[in-house]
Amino acid sequence: MPNSCPKCQSSMKRGFVLDHTYGSRAAASWVEGEPERSIWYDVKLGGRQVLEIETWRCSKCGYLENYAKV
Ligand SMILES: [Zn+2]
Repeated sequence: MPNSCPKCQSSMKRGFVLDHTYGSRAAASWVEGEPERSIWYDVKLGGRQVLEIETWRCSKCGYLENYAKV
């Protein structure tokens, strides 16, 4: 995990990208492969690996760095 911003070397803070969907609030997720859409326009996951994205933000310049840890 980053200790300092790759752009300006300031400190990074851990967080996540909030995904507003259908009234529920959860962390946006990382899914392997290309997204497939069904006739209902939902993304099919089909047993693929899904990882929550951890996003680090620079407190000075606002640069975001994403990690999808297992
Ligand atoms: Zn920075």
